[in-house]
Amino acid sequence: MSSQAVQDDYGDDYRTKVPRFQLLLNCYNCQRPSSRYMQAVPPEITTEDELIESGLLAKQSFLCGKCECPIGTITGVKVEWIDVPY
Ligand SMILES: [Zn+2]
Repeated sequence: MSSQAVQDDYGDDYRTKVPRFQLLLNCYNCQRPSSRYMQAVPPEITTEDELIESGLLAKQSFLCGKCECPIGTITGVKVEWIDVPY
């Protein structure tokens, strides 16, 4: 972890947007690409790097919808900011 200051502009307001992480995966067996959204990501994680450093990716379970191979290779992570539903 670096000691670099993180600039955030949340101020005192509640967040109106939250990050949603999408994992891009390839099946280890049939190489079929797939994607899924991460569930239960702690709120302090807001970037792809933080997600990778958190170790949460290693705990994701995977099952290929085509060949039922349980081994997936993560090929990318995308973050998108979505409006908090009130
Ligand atoms: Zn497969």
